[in-house]
Amino acid sequence: MTTDAKTPAAAAPSGDHLGTFIGGSWLERSSAFPSVDPATGETFGRIAASEVADVDRAVSAARAAARDWSRTSPSERGAILGRWAGLVFQHQHRLAALEARNVGKPLSGGLLNVQIAGSILQFTSGGADKLTGATLPTRSPDYFGFTRREPHGVCAIVLPWNVPAVLCAANLAPALAAGNTVVLKPSEVAPLVIHALVELAEEAGLPAGVLNVLTGIGVELGATLVSHPGIDHISFVGSVATGRLVMQAAAQNLIPIKVELGGKSPNVVFADADLEVAVPAIVRSITENAGQNCNAGSRLLVETGIADEVRSRVLAAMGEIRIGAWDDDLDMGPLVNQAQHARVSGLVEGALGDGVELLLGGTRPEGRDSGNFLSPTVLEVTDRNAPIVGQEIFGPVLTVETFTGDDDAIALANGTDFGLLACIWTQDVSRALRMSAEIGAGQISVNQFSDAGVIGMPFNMAKQSGFSAGNGYRGLYEFTREKAVAVKLLG
Ligand code: NAD
Repeated sequence: MTTDAKTPAAAAPSGDHLGTFIGGSWLERSSAFPSVDPATGETFGRIAASEVADVDRAVSAARAAARDWSRTSPSERGAILGRWAGLVFQHQHRLAALEARNVGKPLSGGLLNVQIAGSILQFTSGGADKLTGATLPTRSPDYFGFTRREPHGVCAIVLPWNVPAVLCAANLAPALAAGNTVVLKPSEVAPLVIHALVELAEEAGLPAGVLNVLTGIGVELGATLVSHPGIDHISFVGSVATGRLVMQAAAQNLIPIKVELGGKSPNVVFADADLEVAVPAIVRSITENAGQNCNAGSRLLVETGIADEVRSRVLAAMGEIRIGAWDDDLDMGPLVNQAQHARVSGLVEGALGDGVELLLGGTRPEGRDSGNFLSPTVLEVTDRNAPIVGQEIFGPVLTVETFTGDDDAIALANGTDFGLLACIWTQDVSRALRMSAEIGAGQISVNQFSDAGVIGMPFNMAKQSGFSAGNGYRGLYEFTREKAVAVKLLG
């Protein structure tokens, strides 16, 4: 077993890798795409791209391994996941550097994500042998009825680039624990940490063919994978636009699908909120990973009476955010690539006008002429119909709106097509519970951002943010189907 325990935390990782893992082997391929450091534009390696014909090979390898893996004892499957979790923690610094350099996030952000990935693997390893069906009541003692939980078969898992280690663990662990085999397609934008995680899965004892990886362009490789007739279930994480296409492929083959899409999460701040706690968390919720998180707190909704104070505190804190490359390990890095930088800058520029005023940022930080850096940006919005309050920006861009009273807060919070996370800031327990019921989101946080402190909290979604019971113990059931068995006892 190799260990990187002595590797310095900030050692620059190589961006070279083979992107195709089929039937237990990493395969050479003739075409490649570059690994580009988002902070410098420097190419630090090349990833050999999978061919479209590899889809068929990978699905065949997964199909060939499916029967044996589904018949492997659930305890043994759990034990492999547990060993994998151990290896992830053992190699956490190397993995963190890969994620941080590839995505552009600060090293400590990469480390946190890798630790979350390890925790998900660990949590799920314990669930593998606790998936059960039910015994059913019968009309007479001469009958016996029960349900079995069975794997779907071959799962396609298609992932985005923003939090690759976490999403890899969150989707692979339940799929494998439940006895499925997998063809995984990481995003071509930042696949390095996923490749390293897959190597560790092999080292943990995952049999050949159970997990296969294809790396390449989504519209070619991803589309071919999700429409392949050998796929039994799709798990897709990404944008709404791609989610629609992937759902069409699932409809064509009539297979189940789980989709986890975008967000526009509000931080709803009432006049009685504890601002010492709220303001740093709100600022972090939109600057962490440069706002490139599905659950980023991109909308600040403030009760009128406290709006001036919250606005000035948030602006001060956003103005103090320290920006740098992954190995500077400051508060915020660049956007992932030039296209993302151009898109986010364009959305901000296009939004300004009647009802939308720039309070902070909107441009490159001083002295950062290269790389994909954008300053933390704050927009005051007085026109509730301004498109910017409903669009997923996926950058460090916060809109600020005010409300008057509980009903107005609910209407404002519910005013977008998304429904991923809503954070309620109040010291009034009754109001917090009322808001939890009235706001249309898959997840609610009270006096904190997101699920910190809760083990196995489901990553649920509502409205156009998608539908799934991702993460947590119930997430395992997503990767099974139920079979009903009825028996007449003879003799
Ligand atoms: P994307 O939709 O562009 O790509 C996601 C994946 O789909 C990539 O692997 C891509 O190669 C692949 N793909 C692209 N076109 C495809 C097609 N036609 N068929 C099949 N696959 C295809 O998203 P992105 O830019 O990589 O990621 C950002 C998006 O992901 C944001 O909208 C963000 O909110 C969302 N996201 C959601 C969650 C969640 O849990 N809800 C988590 C992280 C990110």
